[in-house]
Amino acid sequence: MGRLTNKVAIITGAAQGIGECTARIFIKEGAKVVIADLNEEAGKKVAADLGANAAYFKLDVSNYQNWVDCVAFTKKTFGKLTTLINNAGISYRKDIAETTIQEWDRTVAINQTGVFYGMQVAIAEMRTNGEKCSIANASSIEGLVAEAAFFAYCGAKGAVTLMTKAAALYCGEQRLKIRVNSVHPGYIITPMAYDDAKQNGQTIDEYNAEFIKKHPIGYLGEPEDIAYGYVYLSSDEANFISGTALSIDGAYTAQ
Ligand code: NAD
Repeated sequence: MGRLTNKVAIITGAAQGIGECTARIFIKEGAKVVIADLNEEAGKKVAADLGANAAYFKLDVSNYQNWVDCVAFTKKTFGKLTTLINNAGISYRKDIAETTIQEWDRTVAINQTGVFYGMQVAIAEMRTNGEKCSIANASSIEGLVAEAAFFAYCGAKGAVTLMTKAAALYCGEQRLKIRVNSVHPGYIITPMAYDDAKQNGQTIDEYNAEFIKKHPIGYLGEPEDIAYGYVYLSSDEANFISGTALSIDGAYTAQ
């Protein structure tokens, strides 16, 4: 039996990077997974590769109706929803002086409002199904400590840290069988990191060398390092864990 047998998950942003890796490991651990991503071509490819226990749904996390439709699709395809990984996100390397209103609005719409929509729609469904359920939200080290170069990103990820705790308290007060936690990755080598290196005018080697120095453990993370955090939080092994901010960051935030 896998660690996630009988779980049915929506994983947002699962067409690449941390989300894709999480979907692959969830399937290995016995879950059924909806690959929910805006990128239809890549998302369909991942779902096809993962076989009958995966299905693709085109979701824009910043669109409320898309969320309602995605949860309905999940129930129709796999019978229920027990698990939500709110992983989709975008990043801009812009400080407070450089950030445009459009960049601010877009970052908040996807990284923060999308998490609110997902949690609200998922909780409405999960509270009715009688199963042990779990929600994990992607925050960041930059949802715990700030970096001047990522102004809007810090704002939205910081909000996710406390939205998670408020939702966990609500579920507890209502005696719902829904745990809610946030995950705070350090720098992880994914397409987002490659984009960030490009925005910073660096090769990936220069980027790695700069950011390794900031992680006391002496190396950067891999998508698997974060995916196994999601596996743990989503499994019944984490039955007593709710409202927690799990840093997976090579001691970045220990400094
Ligand atoms: P990535 O850019 O490689 O992948 C993000 C995925 O989200 C893509 O498949 C993209 O199509 C999808 N997406 C973007 N906007 C969307 C939308 N509106 N609706 C649905 N899907 C959308 O990113 P990643 O590095 O795998 O990061 C995943 C999450 O982890 C993000 O929330 C990110 O902020 C967070 N994170 C990443 C790092 C890192 O170093 N990579 C560090 C800390 C936190």
